[in-house]
Amino acid sequence: MTRVLIVEDEEGLLDGLAHNFKFEGYDVLTAKTGQEGLKMALKQKPDVVVLDIMLPEKDGFTVLKELRQRHRDIPVLVMTARNFEADVLKGFDLGADDYVTKPFGIKELMARVKRLVQRGPSGAPAPGPTIYTFGDVEVRFEPREVHKAGKQVALSFKEFELLKYLIEHRGRTVSREELLEEIWGVDEDLGVTTRTVDTHVSNLRSKLGAGFAQPFIVAVHKVGYKFVEP
Ligand code: CA
Repeated sequence: MTRVLIVEDEEGLLDGLAHNFKFEGYDVLTAKTGQEGLKMALKQKPDVVVLDIMLPEKDGFTVLKELRQRHRDIPVLVMTARNFEADVLKGFDLGADDYVTKPFGIKELMARVKRLVQRGPSGAPAPGPTIYTFGDVEVRFEPREVHKAGKQVALSFKEFELLKYLIEHRGRTVSREELLEEIWGVDEDLGVTTRTVDTHVSNLRSKLGAGFAQPFIVAVHKVGYKFVEP
């Protein structure tokens, strides 16, 4: 079943869209704010997102941008209220796959969504490397093994996941909150806190960092961490 996420704050339009998609056999998720929409898109992994631009809390552009930083492969159709070329261009620039301008016909939108789903991911991520090396460390993603100077190093499941996530997003600062959400699957303090992230980072540093002139996981003050090749 195709899962569609509709992010729209106008209740009438949201209900109308949800009803039509359900009628067409879609599994429908809805969100009324940008923040909620982003969360759902990341957690529930819909097959396609229908995203309004003018939204409370976080506008559609911000949602799109943050979504693209993390799950590039979900097709997104943007709904723009204003027929400004600049908006459409900005949307495409941020990784939208298609757009409609309000007011639009529901049948038209449904047809476009269907096309997006059939076409599949446009900005699919490049397949991750099976082996990633930095310095004398070799990270094997399949099977999950880490070697340093030719010797296998035992990492806990979460330590490995954390290292993998940072490598996959290398060069970008990743917030502790994002790491908690992605690696531990929690978005609030449920006994797992941002301190947990710090502890795991420090374990990785002490297990793998020997001999490096600079840390391979750099702390970014008040934000989070970034993987940098030493
Ligand atoms: Ca709106």
